[in-house]
Amino acid sequence: MIRQFELVERVADYDSHLDEDLLNRAYVFSMKAHGSQLRASGDPYFSHPVEVAAILADYKLDCATIVTALLHDTVEDTVATIEEIREIFGEDIGRLVDGVTKLAKLELQPEANQQAENFRKLVLAMSDDIRVLLVKLADRLHNMRTLKHLKSKDKRLRIATETMEIYAPLAERLGMQRLKQELEDLAFAEQNPDARQSVLRRLEFLHEGGEDLQERVSAELEKTCEASGIPAEVGSRTKTPYSIWHKMQRNHVTFEQLSDTVAFRLIVDTVADCYAVLGVVHGRYKMVPGRFKDYISTPKSNNYQSLHTTVIGPENRRIEIQIKTSMMHRVAELGVAAHWQYKQDVSSGELGNDGGQYRWLQGLLDILENTQNPEEFLEHTKLEMYSDQVFCFTPRGGVIALPRGGTAVDFAYALHTDVGHTCVGCKVNGRVAPLRTPLQNGDQVEILRSTKAAPEPSWESFVVTGKARAAIRRFVRAEQREEYRKLGRAIADKAFRESGHEFSDLAMENVLNVFDAPTVDEVYVELGQGHLTSRQFLAKIFPGEGRWRAANAFGAINRMLPARLRRGNGEHRASDQNRAEHAIPIQGLTPGLAVHYGECCHPLPGDRIVGIASPGKGIDIHTIDCAQLADLPDDRDDWIDVRWDLDPNDPGVYVGRIDTVVSNQPGSLSSLSSVIAKNMGNISNLKVTDRSADFFDLQVDVEVADLKHLTNIIAALRATPDISSAERLRG
Ligand code: MN
Repeated sequence: MIRQFELVERVADYDSHLDEDLLNRAYVFSMKAHGSQLRASGDPYFSHPVEVAAILADYKLDCATIVTALLHDTVEDTVATIEEIREIFGEDIGRLVDGVTKLAKLELQPEANQQAENFRKLVLAMSDDIRVLLVKLADRLHNMRTLKHLKSKDKRLRIATETMEIYAPLAERLGMQRLKQELEDLAFAEQNPDARQSVLRRLEFLHEGGEDLQERVSAELEKTCEASGIPAEVGSRTKTPYSIWHKMQRNHVTFEQLSDTVAFRLIVDTVADCYAVLGVVHGRYKMVPGRFKDYISTPKSNNYQSLHTTVIGPENRRIEIQIKTSMMHRVAELGVAAHWQYKQDVSSGELGNDGGQYRWLQGLLDILENTQNPEEFLEHTKLEMYSDQVFCFTPRGGVIALPRGGTAVDFAYALHTDVGHTCVGCKVNGRVAPLRTPLQNGDQVEILRSTKAAPEPSWESFVVTGKARAAIRRFVRAEQREEYRKLGRAIADKAFRESGHEFSDLAMENVLNVFDAPTVDEVYVELGQGHLTSRQFLAKIFPGEGRWRAANAFGAINRMLPARLRRGNGEHRASDQNRAEHAIPIQGLTPGLAVHYGECCHPLPGDRIVGIASPGKGIDIHTIDCAQLADLPDDRDDWIDVRWDLDPNDPGVYVGRIDTVVSNQPGSLSSLSSVIAKNMGNISNLKVTDRSADFFDLQVDVEVADLKHLTNIIAALRATPDISSAERLRG
């Protein structure tokens, strides 16, 4: 384990602005926080954050990154809190540590493998500062290096898979070739140890008796460059077992056919020299056709630049040669981190403390934005790319991507249309939350369902995905049509009876031809919607006889109702018994569909009611003494006689409106609400309509089961000392 002073020295070596005190305090804080905790290897736990910091120091990253590395597991694994870290180390470090802590909570579940791409996007979206991701990658590298100490084979495999699927590709996107290859090879060793061993054996065989082959080829290449007058530094590197294996698999070639188990590189000063050296190499050795690639004029999407060629080289061996400048080499090995170093070199001394440490990030984004190859997806490297999306988890670890602002209802429909149709609530991160809550990155969402549930029309106003919106609309339409159909059938039934005919669906089938409709149901829907009145309906079926009788039947009701209104009370005669039998039963239908309860009079079960057909919208229900009825003409034939028909076991919820005057003094509003609550009412709305020094005039909407329930509440309010009056409010 690297010691405190060594780490500080190493960082001070490349960072002239280093805050040594900050680094020392972080070292001590982390050591104390982890205390006597041990790793699976038996090492003190504290060795882990220190090694992670050392890895990042190799990449010459800034002090904040190194400090974050030292602290990265303190919030997750010790009693230290993020508030504490913020207080001691400042807002900036606090934010970075918080970011790494959040990433630590992500775990790719085995069944979610096919969602790796979404998962990678999630990691990127959560790393709004690229240093968070760099610490995470270094953390993963050290964990992979020490993976063998974990006892559980399942756990080792899960971590290896996650590394292969998520973190190695992320390292590649950041251009960190060296880190990516080490991660992959460590994961490969866990996933397929036999394959890796066989590749290693073949590599040994290849080098057997010719250990200096690499050197001989290097020496000859060096001589060739020298002779041409272009100074080049020659290097070589054996590929990792995994990258060899991967290439064999991908290209369906045998080990012997691979020309590039060893890659030679020629590092030169300028881009012009790259092409000049390429000419020299191609002039001296035979080039293998189809293997030349110019990544300088067209860099890879992660900004990798180099010339690649394969030639029949010294000793008649096929060798791969990469030609690049030293800056290109640095970028290829270190990726984003190299860029930071470069900016650091440029900025030292000149730019002082003007936030120079962030310039590299801007620079990176500039480069990414100006990448010359539009056919490559920029999203592979651009961090901000996913800011318009949120990524959430199912309880089993699946990842669901939603547009920003997506709600639990969107989430439910994204899982399956049936899940959406039956959802009644949700838990976000284990807590019950409203279905309309916009979800955040990384939220774990559990959808609560009920088989009796149905989508609510109001959901359409807050969902953001097209899928959810279309499914809700489709469902509501179908449901609405079914209600219109039921209502229309009831109206048809009543019209038949009142004109002295026996009603049945079969009878309707027999007269379908008089209607301009394909099915009987279609006729019912027309009736239910009010596009077809009962009178028109009867006139079509019984053209000779019906007119006066139908008019008479409805006229009787119509004449009766305004008369009642003139009398100004709701009492009715016993002869209405007959009427009630013919009345259309109104069930507790889904509000807002075929039946609407008047906002003017708020009808409650127990009230005498009447329905007014409103074409295209079904029927509006009013209390029989509603003032609005007085404005309607007497002789309309769209008055519909209706009665309540409720399931006593499931009475439903209706809104009654109360007008009350409450004395303006402490506690009076709370006694109002507690009286209503004690009587099992639920206040759904409350409005102050007038306010004086002594009294409030309040309009209170209360959810109740029926008229009796509301009457009880009003009586209880009247009995309350602070309340000077309470009346049911209508119109
Ligand atoms: Mn860690």
